[in-house]
Amino acid sequence: VSLEQIKKSEDTVHAFLETDEEKVYQRVKEVEAGIASGKYSGPLAGVPIAVKDNICTKGRKTTCASKILGNFVPPYDAEAVKKLEEAGMIILGKTNMDEFAMGSTSETSAFGITTNPWDQTKVPGGSSGGSCAAVAAGEAFLALGSDTGGSIRQPSSYCGVVGMKPTYGTVSRYGLIAYASSLDQIGPVAKNVSDCTALLEAISGYDKKDSTSIERNDLNFTEALNGDLNGVRVGIPTEYLSEGLDEDVKKTLQETVELMRANGAVVEEFSLGLVDYVIPAYYIIASAEASSNLARFDGVKYGYRAGEFEGLHDMYKKSRAQGFGEEVKRRILLGSFVLSSGYYDAYYLKALKVKAMIKKAFDDAFAKYDMILAPAAPSTAPKVGSSLQDPLKMYLSDVYTAGVNLAGLPAISVPAGKDRNGMPVGLQFIGDCFKEKKIIQAAYAYE
Ligand code: GLN
Repeated sequence: VSLEQIKKSEDTVHAFLETDEEKVYQRVKEVEAGIASGKYSGPLAGVPIAVKDNICTKGRKTTCASKILGNFVPPYDAEAVKKLEEAGMIILGKTNMDEFAMGSTSETSAFGITTNPWDQTKVPGGSSGGSCAAVAAGEAFLALGSDTGGSIRQPSSYCGVVGMKPTYGTVSRYGLIAYASSLDQIGPVAKNVSDCTALLEAISGYDKKDSTSIERNDLNFTEALNGDLNGVRVGIPTEYLSEGLDEDVKKTLQETVELMRANGAVVEEFSLGLVDYVIPAYYIIASAEASSNLARFDGVKYGYRAGEFEGLHDMYKKSRAQGFGEEVKRRILLGSFVLSSGYYDAYYLKALKVKAMIKKAFDDAFAKYDMILAPAAPSTAPKVGSSLQDPLKMYLSDVYTAGVNLAGLPAISVPAGKDRNGMPVGLQFIGDCFKEKKIIQAAYAYE
């Protein structure tokens, strides 16, 4: 079914950078035998899945949608991919994204854009736009994305699918090509909350290969797929409702509040504080880490090397100049600047302090509320081509998602309605650290 749908949709949607029918059929045979022999017995055995192209797949190209990794074939699987294989899942292919996951529209890919399956003149969001579009178009039942500042939740919202960012440290980052290591998390994308939860459960777990991996004994997330909203305390940050929020998104939020109240939830507004500082702190920290993480791409060890150069330094320079796209270069420059001597204290160190204050603001909120309800993005999917001219505006649109990453929290984005043009609107349930079950329960009851 998936391969048929891929054939039908890919010409217009272009969610995938790579699909290999032969590999898929070979794997199907393997899985069929595995199911027969009892090797694969879980609920995900035989389910086709798409994987974002910044997650390493052994023997299969992993490009981060960048020219600099255009021909990179990893010699190993990411831990999350290993877990998919162990669950008997079938990897259909690798999905398109913003280059190195830097962006909000999937238009900074070096290999062409992905479009929104609901309206092909619009973007699918980003950076996990390929993964979300693949699920929305019915090309894949499930997908893996990565979320550094909103890259699973925002495209899920634009594409009308469910996407989740787990608590930092829940899913191993081993084999996820790093953007901003202290914020990156792999997470699931699905059509509904149950499927999303089943996939989250499959990919979670302690991994000694990731130094920030956390040992938890509450990873049986599917147990939370029950219950109701009765008595659940929900807070909505007043700051999230101020200017900048699109009317249709606001209306969907209000309708959701009514619905949740009617089902017994206690919903109130409160002041979260510090919301204006989320974007500056996020972009300083993310760019600083990116500039360091991307230093390894020098034309020597991986991928692209410039054709002509004079000496080693010229080779570095030309390979990087030709291999990286505009947006990635912008972040490397910004990151190198905020880390440079003389500016480190004024920018990077200050951003880290703000990060700690943001975490504290969320801690205070979770002393009063079980969860926070928030938009996933200020608007629905914008038109193709409309965001790239104004990077600052694009950065500002991460205001509801990036704070969650700075604080390491879990959050799930669920489809909640449509705007006046019939485009999907998503809302997020944000939980305290390790409280995935609470937000899964609420999202499931709400859905
Ligand atoms: N839009 C944000 C950025 O460009 C988030 C990206 C992400 O989560 N990978 O950094």
